[in-house]
Amino acid sequence: MKTRFTEAFGIEHPIVQGGMQWVGRAELVAAIANAGALGHITALTQPTPDDLGQEIARCRALTDKPFGVNLTILPTITPPPYREYAQVIIDCGVEFVETAGHNPGEYIEMFKPHGIKVIHKATTVRHALKAQSLGVDAVSIDGLDCAGHPGEDDVPGLVLIPAAADKLEIPIIASGGFADARGLIAALALGADAINMGTRFMCTVESPIHENVKQRIVEADERQTDLIFRTLHNTARVARNAISQEVMEIEKRGGSFEDVRDLVSGARGAKVYELGDLDAGIWTAGICQGLIHDIPTCGELIETIMTDADQLIAERLSKIAGYAVVN
Ligand code: NAD
Repeated sequence: MKTRFTEAFGIEHPIVQGGMQWVGRAELVAAIANAGALGHITALTQPTPDDLGQEIARCRALTDKPFGVNLTILPTITPPPYREYAQVIIDCGVEFVETAGHNPGEYIEMFKPHGIKVIHKATTVRHALKAQSLGVDAVSIDGLDCAGHPGEDDVPGLVLIPAAADKLEIPIIASGGFADARGLIAALALGADAINMGTRFMCTVESPIHENVKQRIVEADERQTDLIFRTLHNTARVARNAISQEVMEIEKRGGSFEDVRDLVSGARGAKVYELGDLDAGIWTAGICQGLIHDIPTCGELIETIMTDADQLIAERLSKIAGYAVVN
């Protein structure tokens, strides 16, 4: 498949793995790169900028294909030295960066002179347009359906993606709710040039998280997520568990961030992925878990999606349209 994304980024398949706190590590990113898609190491999963440098080196040892780094700027309990992380990305010669969360302007200014291609993840058309005006190479547009932070506008991908496509000139990566070939074909029809998948990649053999989390994603359906931090204007879609329900209760009673801070800390959430205790803290999953029924390797997953996509066009869409697809 050739799209504006595959052409401009030199990536074989129109599939991206964006930032995932505690999950976007070298083994997953390298497996995705080796399968012909674009993976991103999540910068803030590494405790220091030096550790990020080592993780990038570890990824290089596992793949000779290009990959990227995600740098997310959102409210945090302990603000990280973002510029130092950005400098490591530059010093290590990383080819792609995914920025997310906040205006990426000052980081684009750092990355661009080094020829780094930047994807900015935006949850609204106006933020996507702003990112385009700042010179990013693509926008990943993230609807309400996504895991993690969907913003506060509550517009699902079915409307947000074509609304973005109507206004933007640069390639668009559709993000939120994508887990299979049906999503890919739908995204292309909506005007996107690629899809971003998070939860689907969490549930692969190479994903560096506890097996219990992967099994839970397979067992869960599309209803078992919660939107926490609504009252704090930092909404996050997370897997429903005892902690997410407790946080929702505290928010309902009018609690502040201080009242939930210990429950929601990332350090606590990391234990879920490490130890497999699903109620140890907050962990992230999207509603597309309802479409996930297996734990394939990244290679198998990407091959299945691309083969199913061809079949979907040749066997279903062409019949509906009443013509034969000629390769
Ligand atoms: P953390 O322990 O600092 O915070 C835990 C959660 O509380 C995060 O969702 C954070 O956004 C939220 N939070 C912190 N302070 C807040 C405040 N004052 N008001 C409202 N909400 C607040 O976070 P962490 O787990 O160590 O993650 C580090 C950063 O990466 C956070 O900003 C987090 O949001 C972000 N993140 C990144 C990704 C990614 O894919 N790159 C995914 C999820 C979260």
